[in-house]
Amino acid sequence: MTSLIWLQRDLRLSDHAPLMHAIKRNCKLVIAYFHDPKHIIGEANNAWLADSLLNLQKTIRQQGSELLMLEGDFSHNFSQVLSHYKTDEVLYHYEVGEPFLSQQHLALQVCHQHKISLQPFDQAWHPAEQVLTQKGQIYSVFTPFYKKLLTLLNQVDYPYDAPDNLQQTKPAQTPRPEWLNLPASLNKLRQTAWAQRMISHWQIGEHQAWLQVKNFCENSLNDYPIQRDYPAEPATSKLSVHLQFGELSVRELLHYLQGLKAQPEYDVHAIDSFIRQLAWREFGRYLLHFNPLLENQSFQSKFNNFPWDDDPDNLRDWQLGQTGVPIIDAGMRELWQTGWMHNRVRMLVASWLTKNANLSWREGQAWFANTLIDADPANNAMGWQWVAGCGVDAAPYYRLFNPVVQSTRFDTQTEYIKHWLPELKPIPAKWVHAPWQHQNELKSIGFDLPKQYRIPKIDLAQSRHNHLDRVQAQKSYTQALQLQN
Ligand SMILES: Cc1cc2nc3c(=O)[nH]c(=O)nc-3n(C[C@H](O)[C@H](O)[C@H](O)COP(=O)(O)OP(=O)(O)OC[C@H]3O[C@@H](n4cnc5c(N)ncnc54)[C@H](O)[C@@H]3O)c2cc1C
Repeated sequence: MTSLIWLQRDLRLSDHAPLMHAIKRNCKLVIAYFHDPKHIIGEANNAWLADSLLNLQKTIRQQGSELLMLEGDFSHNFSQVLSHYKTDEVLYHYEVGEPFLSQQHLALQVCHQHKISLQPFDQAWHPAEQVLTQKGQIYSVFTPFYKKLLTLLNQVDYPYDAPDNLQQTKPAQTPRPEWLNLPASLNKLRQTAWAQRMISHWQIGEHQAWLQVKNFCENSLNDYPIQRDYPAEPATSKLSVHLQFGELSVRELLHYLQGLKAQPEYDVHAIDSFIRQLAWREFGRYLLHFNPLLENQSFQSKFNNFPWDDDPDNLRDWQLGQTGVPIIDAGMRELWQTGWMHNRVRMLVASWLTKNANLSWREGQAWFANTLIDADPANNAMGWQWVAGCGVDAAPYYRLFNPVVQSTRFDTQTEYIKHWLPELKPIPAKWVHAPWQHQNELKSIGFDLPKQYRIPKIDLAQSRHNHLDRVQAQKSYTQALQLQN
């Protein structure tokens, strides 16, 4: 019996249910990744993917087997591998969102043609269908969903150990030599200066993911609830990208965290606070599982006709970190240079784009998808809709962040801003949050504002007012429509 272990966002050997399912039945294993440039998330994500694949290939080779990496049309390559190895079944971890749904659909068609089975495995805390309200309905608000997850926490499947030798599982057929190379487009991308600079901020792969878990738990976990909102602090885990690529199994991570609760040096409240954030990730995947259109449409349909502006200049200023609002520009430059941005700052830049620049959340989502290394269809859509106010968990008040107030509160000493905007280093912290309000003071210390740093084109108070007017008009319009119907 030969099984194809089809990898998507599960680039690890530990707690790998499809792999273990095949090993337990003494199957021969073909382990493969199919890279189709038509089905990708984004460039930054691809840059990580390249190194993650090379890393996994090295580990699998050390265990006496091979990781195949094929580039090109998904269906064609998938079919080629099935034929070459006379495969009997395909086992894989099911993924939500695009490009995964499309590929899973194509895989089903190909398996059908080859008359073999395609078996999905779940890597969520619990299969979504088991997490329902008492009435058997889907949760659409985070807190009750989270409470339900907590009741199921002790039932999360126990993780599988990684296999220690794959030599015996190697099929008799030798792979085509070109299947052993990193896909050419990924190889080219990883050699660009942009990708190299971005990747230099990170340690990639399963082993490194666990080092990061341990480092975070030992040094930052106890302070997580208090420090996690301060972008200058190394207070969050930076595990999102390892989770996105499945270098880290979330179930294994949960078991590890639960285990720490028995150790007196760990604060149980802090561990729970961290688990709560992991539950947000779970919620994003859950929502997208039941509402696959959420990537493209507002959860609250009344926002689908919202009068967003079309202003390429404002969009470009935001993308390049040149809005003139320091906390926004700092976040966007952190993103460009490292492929990551602190969660609080993600909320602020998303709020500025949608509520001050009045540009659609879809524009922001697309830029994040291309530039975040942890770009994830579910979290990205949920995050943008949450901030734009058109998603689930609509606030009883309308969610609007004032970037100057937020910057003063969460980057009081302006360490974060000055790190990413070194041009502001000569300015005392008290003027950094809103330099345009201190033009005379800045002049007196020889800092030429429009020359050395931009003055915002968008007035924060006025734009906020204009946006709220539009929201109100939209609300009246929707109410009128409902009355008519
Ligand atoms: C507009 C917007 C877009 C976002 N896009 C993405 C995305 O594409 N991919 C992504 O992984 N996260 C996204 N997030 C969520 C969040 O910002 C990141 O998960 C977090 O910043 C990652 O850093 P960390 O690993 O240090 O987080 P930690 O604070 O250490 O949290 C631990 C883990 O919990 C999960 N998590 C934490 N906060 C959230 C959250 N608000 N929503 C969902 N999961 C969360 C992540 O998996 C994270 O790794 C987005 C948030 C916003 C506001």
